[in-house]
Amino acid sequence: MTVDKTNCPFETSLLPIPYFSSVIKLEDNYRHKGLRKKLVELLREKGIKDEQVLTAINTLPRHHFLDAAFMETAYEDKAFQIGQGQTISQPYTVAYQTELLKIEKRDKVLEIGTGSGYQACVLSLMGARVYTIERQKKLHEKTTALIEALNLPNIRQFYGDGFEGKAMFAPFDKILITAAAPEIPEKLLEQLKIGGLMVIPYGEGVNQTMLRLTKISAREIETEELDDFKFVPMLKGVAR
Ligand code: SAH
Repeated sequence: MTVDKTNCPFETSLLPIPYFSSVIKLEDNYRHKGLRKKLVELLREKGIKDEQVLTAINTLPRHHFLDAAFMETAYEDKAFQIGQGQTISQPYTVAYQTELLKIEKRDKVLEIGTGSGYQACVLSLMGARVYTIERQKKLHEKTTALIEALNLPNIRQFYGDGFEGKAMFAPFDKILITAAAPEIPEKLLEQLKIGGLMVIPYGEGVNQTMLRLTKISAREIETEELDDFKFVPMLKGVAR
């Protein structure tokens, strides 16, 4: 089976940018549950094996993270626009990155690129303590409200530049970057604990190579080069 691994919904770019509703409706019915089950089966076929990741995706209503315009397609294995030119990652990409992190309960995880909040919630459902940073103010505010409404434990959201990390909560067991990184952010490596893992889509071209870095010692990093993906860029500074 060929695996489509795009995180950028170029094919949906003509669809309207979601309207940010101030009312958060959180209905999850049997139809949604059935569609989620099918999505999980598809992810299995595409090679995802970590049962904890699959259980979290099976549990979390992805349609809550999308505008009503995308409700019918929320459980397709596709990325979608979430406003501010940003995307909610394709479920396969979320599953792939999460599997690489080898999440254990109570892991302290720093995510760069909160976006819709979907990935942060998957990590929370797996028992991680999540610290997530978003550089787009409007997205940060919208997602903060949604995650509060979802009432999932152990997610702290920050507005800021992910290149800086969150030194006051370091060291982290795992660091996950969900935007295309033009470089390996030095400060993030510093904030990773010895023995910790960083998953990072690396490169400035059309495609990025997924890297898993293991911090062997303060100076030694082991690098695994994995598959190619397409992400929106990791940008410096913040947007208001
Ligand atoms: N994890 C998200 C998908 C993120 S798309 C989800 O589950 O929906 C990538 C996100 O990274 C975008 O929202 C973008 O604004 C954000 N981003 C890009 N550069 C960043 C930076 N330097 N710091 C924090 N967030 C950044």
